Amino acid sequence: MSSSKSFNPFAMAQAQFDKVAEILGLDEGTKEILRNPLREFSFSIPVKMDDGTTKVFRGFRVQHNDARGPSKGGIRFHPQETVDTVRALAMWMTWKCAVVNIPLGGGKGGVICDPHNLSMKEQEQICRGWARQMAKNVGPLNDVPAPDVMTNAQHMLWMLDEFEVISGGKYPGFITGKPVGMGGSLGRTEATGYGVIYTVREALKEMGIKPEDTTASVQGFGNVAQYAIRLYNELGGKVVAVSSWDNKDQKSYSFIKKEGVNIDELLKITDRFGGIDKVKAKDLGYSVEDGNAWIQQEVDILIPAALENQVNAETVTLIKDTVKIVAEGANGPTTPDADKVLIEKGIFVIPDFLANAGGVTCSYFEQVQSNMNYYWEKEEVLEKLDQKMTSAYLAVSELARKKNIFMRDAAYMISIQRVAEACKDRGWV
Ligand code: NAD
Repeated sequence: MSSSKSFNPFAMAQAQFDKVAEILGLDEGTKEILRNPLREFSFSIPVKMDDGTTKVFRGFRVQHNDARGPSKGGIRFHPQETVDTVRALAMWMTWKCAVVNIPLGGGKGGVICDPHNLSMKEQEQICRGWARQMAKNVGPLNDVPAPDVMTNAQHMLWMLDEFEVISGGKYPGFITGKPVGMGGSLGRTEATGYGVIYTVREALKEMGIKPEDTTASVQGFGNVAQYAIRLYNELGGKVVAVSSWDNKDQKSYSFIKKEGVNIDELLKITDRFGGIDKVKAKDLGYSVEDGNAWIQQEVDILIPAALENQVNAETVTLIKDTVKIVAEGANGPTTPDADKVLIEKGIFVIPDFLANAGGVTCSYFEQVQSNMNYYWEKEEVLEKLDQKMTSAYLAVSELARKKNIFMRDAAYMISIQRVAEACKDRGWV
């Protein structure tokens, strides 16, 4: 990977914040409280390893801001986890929850470990250890974790179980990302991808374009991309290209079908990591091209839904003049350099922390259902999701139009303003 050692995500998150704080004219006290986490925890998790030794893992939780409600954010397991990554991600969660106007703050957690080299028993001890260390400072009313990089529903259940043993009661609202039937919410699988398309639908409406008259190209074919394509197809849109990572070849490929990709046929030849089998795809009539071909399609909409740093100074020049919308399904897919070019080209960007906020919105619904111990039908979840995403989108696009500013800046302004107001209303600043 080409990521530079000196890159500090927290410094970047603070720089983004400083820029908007300046525009909003926030006072010094508010700036100071928002550019740093409210609380940070760093702790040891001793684990009795299968070989009889004891290994001590480092765990973190950062609660960036909870002025608008309990902190919300995932717990990552990663060998290269750093406290600065966790700080940056916690801050971004604060802005994401605020932009969709859900009553939650921002948090993030992590453990420096590599689950690939840990048995299930060892992973269970890490989860229980994390919950023990944090039990007094997390919970349905103050901080609600979720799965993230290399953590899943099983990890969440172990943490929940430990928390409930310590707390002496059932608190399913302590954590989200639980399996359906064990306190999880229906619709969570669809939520992020569908959310992206709810915002695209609204953007097209504002442009006076019918979805059935549009085409799109998508980077990635994982959870977000698959459900985004499904809903976009239902609205009548045609996806002419998708791309995915080929683990064997260690490179990505684009899969192109001008008459429109068929999601069900592609799913049959896709592994659980979202990798499409290129030999079988050719048999099905797809043209298999290089990894960058997805961004070079003559389409109306581009949906980067794979990973960060994909629309950059180089690839942005490949975008065709037909493109009207870039809807960011992934987190951080566009670099600041590329943003400048997109603005020059007049391409409308639906920024990541708005476009992909369907995931956290549905996690919020899971928390609400868990706290009530009463669960909604899938239709109800998706209807509420659509309402939240649509009104969030409309608030941002209205501000962008009114002030004639870039959508990303408008989204940041709305969320930072909301959190700043909450701090002020509580008398913190
Ligand atoms: P996933 O692991 O299910 O799928 C990732 C897809 O990207 C796979 O199809 C993979 O083959 C493809 N990919 C990886 N590297 C690629 C490359 N270089 N070129 C082309 N394709 C490549 O992941 P996901 O859950 O769909 O998440 C995708 C993005 O959306 C991530 O940035 C994630 O952080 C973000 N996101 C996800 C959610 C969610 O609820 N799943 C919520 C918010 C944001």
